[in-house]
Amino acid sequence: MNATTDLADRAATALRQCGVDALPDDAALAVTSPIDGSVIGHLPVHSAAEVDATITAAAQAFEQWRDIPAPVRGRVVRRLGELLVEHKSDLAELVTLEAGKIPSEAAGEVQEMIDVCEFAVGLSRQLYGRTMPSERPGHRLMEIWHPLGVVGVISAFNFPVAVWSWNTAIALVCGDPVVWKPSETTPLTALACDALLRRAAAEVGAPEGLHHLLLGDHTVGEALVDDPRIALVSATGSTRMGRIVGPRVAARFGRSLLELGGNNAAIVAPSADQDLAVRGVVFAAAGTAGQRCTTLRRLIVHRSIADEFVERIAKAYSGLRVGNPLDEGVLVGPLISERSYESMTAALDRAQTDGGTLVVGGERVEVAGGGVYVSPALVRMPAQTEVVREETFAPILYVLVYDDLDEAIALHNDVPQGLSSSIFTLDQREAELFLARSDCGIANVNIGTSGAEIGGAFGGEKHTGGGRESGSDAWKAYMRRATNTVNYSTDLPLAQGVEFG
Ligand code: NAD
Repeated sequence: MNATTDLADRAATALRQCGVDALPDDAALAVTSPIDGSVIGHLPVHSAAEVDATITAAAQAFEQWRDIPAPVRGRVVRRLGELLVEHKSDLAELVTLEAGKIPSEAAGEVQEMIDVCEFAVGLSRQLYGRTMPSERPGHRLMEIWHPLGVVGVISAFNFPVAVWSWNTAIALVCGDPVVWKPSETTPLTALACDALLRRAAAEVGAPEGLHHLLLGDHTVGEALVDDPRIALVSATGSTRMGRIVGPRVAARFGRSLLELGGNNAAIVAPSADQDLAVRGVVFAAAGTAGQRCTTLRRLIVHRSIADEFVERIAKAYSGLRVGNPLDEGVLVGPLISERSYESMTAALDRAQTDGGTLVVGGERVEVAGGGVYVSPALVRMPAQTEVVREETFAPILYVLVYDDLDEAIALHNDVPQGLSSSIFTLDQREAELFLARSDCGIANVNIGTSGAEIGGAFGGEKHTGGGRESGSDAWKAYMRRATNTVNYSTDLPLAQGVEFG
């Protein structure tokens, strides 16, 4: 058996375990594994008529689902969580095969799905509205949250399953059916999730049509974006995509939740615990081959420790094993495509033209069987030039130096994106000042920028899109709020003391 058949067979086995029938031998969408570039499956693409019929079915399901009490809706998500536990290794295998993540990161992504299901089940009994004191006697003033409608989820290749679960587990308990358009690069994991959710729904007796998968590229995504029956479009991907999706949804007065690109930075202060900072920086910058939205892309180090700290990072980088994620001990897997490598080398060229010095990495690594592998790059920059202000979705860490914290925070915030940020310091004043001033949706102290827990609201500001998903009160985006005033008196006092007649 050659390596290519092996990957395709492994994918077919994992899919089968999750309840997905055999894939067609040939169809429009060829799915490749970044591990070696081989085709691991073919899938059909949905036509415009199929997209329309799917949205119709989801809209019909909403009519039933909205009336089922939220704690009862939670049963589907509870069962889904159990099935995810049962099939954790199958799903993780698919994530590795399709997105190239190392097994522990792939398993971590599936764990995130399990965790958010747990969270959503609890939430199904806590969709609290508030009551407010009415200014009128014999009146009650309150708010209540209602299901919103069909949620369209558009997801990116780099978190092929977690992003879906953040949206879907929450949407379902909120009373919203989901139509999911996964990345065209990672549709196999989506097939597996869809099969497990359908099974969960059938086993708990939930209505049919709560979840649908739409396969295809941006044209299928655009059909969701433009359809007025999609009450909320939750789109995760590049800022380029968000720039198209946001205005189009707004034009029809739909609601959108945008989770877009990041350009995350960490400040390393003179008081930092450097052992801890090195570990935090290396995982955040080189983990997932630099292909997380929260990947650390900019390191802002105090001048007094910069040389020593950069040397330590360079040393740690040299020890990172790059290669086939299925091989023992590999920490950095493949880039998703040749195009990612091209954008990485183009960015490195620009950085060097701007006066940057490549300290280590940036070389193509040949791995038996194929695939696009590269050693994570560390580049010292004389200033935060244009290329540093952009998100290049590959493992490049730019290093800048600072003299005082105000300057560091100003540099930190002076990029278009606003997703994740961190500071390494043992000085409480510095830490608090940073948390107060970072303009990102996520700000950390003494941990890196990546690897958020599901309990908090996830998302970012500025060109990252402003959306919030997952924990805290992110559920409110999936519901509509109604304010109710009830008069239980025999009078009709008007608000603000208005007299009328
Ligand atoms: P991408 O923008 O190329 O594609 C993302 C999804 O959007 C895909 O499903 C794609 O088919 C769809 N799409 C593209 N154009 C569209 C359009 N005009 N209308 C509707 N749908 C459209 O992104 P990618 O390369 O898959 O993922 C990498 C990017 O995603 C990075 O920028 C990364 O930072 C970002 N990302 C952000 C988050 C976050 O939570 N903020 C999470 C993961 C990834």
